[in-house]
Amino acid sequence: MKQGSQSRLLPLALDAALVAVVVLAGLLASIGAFRSLTQKAAAQQREVLNAIGQSVVAAFDLQLVRAIEALEVSGQLLSVQGQPSLDQFRRYGRGLLSGGSALTLLEWQPVVSDADLSAFERRAAAEQRGYRIVEPAAAEGGAAGDDFIAARPRDLHLPVLYSWPEAGAALGVDMAFDPRRMRSKLLARDSGSPVASETFSLIRRGQPGPVVLGFAVSAPVYRAARPDTVEARRRELLGFLAGVIEMPALMREAMRRADANDLDLFVYDQDEQHRLIFGAAGAEPAPGEEGDAVLSVDVGGRPWQLVLRPRPAFVGGARDQLPLLALALGSLASLLMGVAVARSLVIRRRLERTEAVLAEDRQYLSNVLDGTAAGTWDWHVESGRLEVNERWAEMLGRSRSELEPITGTTWERLCHAGDLIAANDAMKRHLAGQEERYAVEFRMRHADGRWVWVQSVGSIVKRDARGRPLRLAGTHMDVSCRKAEEECLQEDARALEAANRQLRDLAILDPLTGAFNRRHFNDVCLAALAGAHRGHAVGLCMLDVDYFKPYNDHYGHQSGDAILKTVAQALKDNLKRSTDALFRVGGEEFGVIFSAASAESAQHFVAELGATLRGLALPHARSPFGHVTASFGLAWWAAPTSALTPEAMYAAADAALYEAKRAGRDQTVFHRFEAGEGETLPQALTGRHSLGVEAATDDAVDGPVRA
Ligand code: GH3
Ligand code: MG
Ligand code: MG
Repeated sequence: MKQGSQSRLLPLALDAALVAVVVLAGLLASIGAFRSLTQKAAAQQREVLNAIGQSVVAAFDLQLVRAIEALEVSGQLLSVQGQPSLDQFRRYGRGLLSGGSALTLLEWQPVVSDADLSAFERRAAAEQRGYRIVEPAAAEGGAAGDDFIAARPRDLHLPVLYSWPEAGAALGVDMAFDPRRMRSKLLARDSGSPVASETFSLIRRGQPGPVVLGFAVSAPVYRAARPDTVEARRRELLGFLAGVIEMPALMREAMRRADANDLDLFVYDQDEQHRLIFGAAGAEPAPGEEGDAVLSVDVGGRPWQLVLRPRPAFVGGARDQLPLLALALGSLASLLMGVAVARSLVIRRRLERTEAVLAEDRQYLSNVLDGTAAGTWDWHVESGRLEVNERWAEMLGRSRSELEPITGTTWERLCHAGDLIAANDAMKRHLAGQEERYAVEFRMRHADGRWVWVQSVGSIVKRDARGRPLRLAGTHMDVSCRKAEEECLQEDARALEAANRQLRDLAILDPLTGAFNRRHFNDVCLAALAGAHRGHAVGLCMLDVDYFKPYNDHYGHQSGDAILKTVAQALKDNLKRSTDALFRVGGEEFGVIFSAASAESAQHFVAELGATLRGLALPHARSPFGHVTASFGLAWWAAPTSALTPEAMYAAADAALYEAKRAGRDQTVFHRFEAGEGETLPQALTGRHSLGVEAATDDAVDGPVRA
């Protein structure tokens, strides 16, 4: 039991595992496709991002480079010309700030020693009324405030002398107050090239407003053109031509481009430990996200890092649905495949079970066929092909191979001609639906020449759409033994019947002459009377061989017997109707019951009997007639009634015979009775003429009936 459930569970587990593997493989493949598509999409996105990044950088880089180059050239020009005049500077300013320049402000910041500061201030104030050298009160330069104080004493001052446009001026502010601002300027001084500062809040004296972040690019101006050593540059430094670039203005186009592409833009200054110097408003500058495009830009010697961060709208573009779609479809396909595989496995298992059951049935059927030694046949009606098993052929002492091709004709050829019609009729009855089953027995020719009795049983097993039979199948059984037994039984029955007939004959027939015996007379008489009672006339003739004792004496008893036989045969031959009957009533005395419509025909009949005897001409040496004769007593009733009895009939005929003897023998005495006559026994004869079975038990009678 446990073994059985285990053997059923194992294939189930295997199937489940297979389905799981299929689904898992499908899911893995889907995930792989998802990943590869995602990576591809990411790569594409990176490419797009990089391209946008280049475009974003290009939006400000060229402006920046041009501005820096212009500052450099201007610085070099001033290095040749020396200190610029106010008009000269204004020309520079107009030139440098025109035509979409990134520069929003240009300043001339001459180097002034602490000793020269007040003289410088006086000269400048003479030129520009109210000019004062100041610095923000707070160290960090509260940019927006107007909280300025006189410049503190220091080695070197760097006051803004000229500014363009004049309205945005930080005029008079000593830039040396802020070491951070100075750092880039000193770098520019030493390198001889413009250097950008870090970003800071721009100072706009007398212009309160929102803080604007920007940076300055300072181009060094020397007293001589191109000093070639750092010492020379430091010694010859005249001042700085500083261009201010406002971050919002510089980045406006770049921002627009980033924004148009659903990107947030962040700018970091790498020289200041990755400080965010510009960022998309409202966006959180979380550093280092995957998917960011990172670009490095050199801004006047300062390394900037631009980070472009895709917004959800950028990531969730139509293209990005593809991997998810692939994952979803792939997973769905895997599940469907799993379902399909599971289904096919279920069907396969079911088929296996069905096949097992079928095999069992087939084995069972084969066992039954083996056990019953039945031959099988399967007849294809249309083609006539007859499929049989080996036993079918074996029954006939043959093999299937020697009979091939086997068709209906093969069967017909082997079937006994005398049984063909019955077999075909049985088939027709079954095909016509008159018989539920085709069942018939016929003989088939065995290879050794004998006939084998075969019982064939079958029925229609397949019909076409219109109900016409296509195939019939059934069995053949060898019933020869049963047939032989039946034959024996029939034989026995026949023998029994013959014996019975013999017994019956013995009971009613006289063994010597074959005529009915005296015991049977009563029955035959009654039968004759039954017909007679319906209005038919009836006659009884008694006859006795004349001088028979002397015959026996003369010729011997055996010859006497022969005479009796001959006489009886001759009398029998003269009987007309089936109801006419001959009796041997005693030794050499016979009786004939017959029907005769008239007295004449009755007389005629008896005359014929006499004539027949005479016609035999049997010699009788001891008879006065010279041959065997007989005396006849005839009694005839024209219309007997139910009162007439066999005894009365016998008595009447016997009386007539007695008279014939008395009258000299070899003659007939005729007693004729009309309606109602001669039906009762004469009083004197009552009892004497009874011919009942009780009256005589011997068939052979030695001696005359009468005393
Ligand atoms: P009648 O002319 O008066 O009839 O004279 P009968 O000699 O024929 O009559 P009877 O009655 O005197 O004799 C009858 C004889 O018939 C006696 C017997 O020997 C003979 N008989 C009776 N039965 C048989 C028989 O079965 N076989 C033979 N061979 N003879 C028989
Ligand atoms: Mg006699
Ligand atoms: Mg007699």
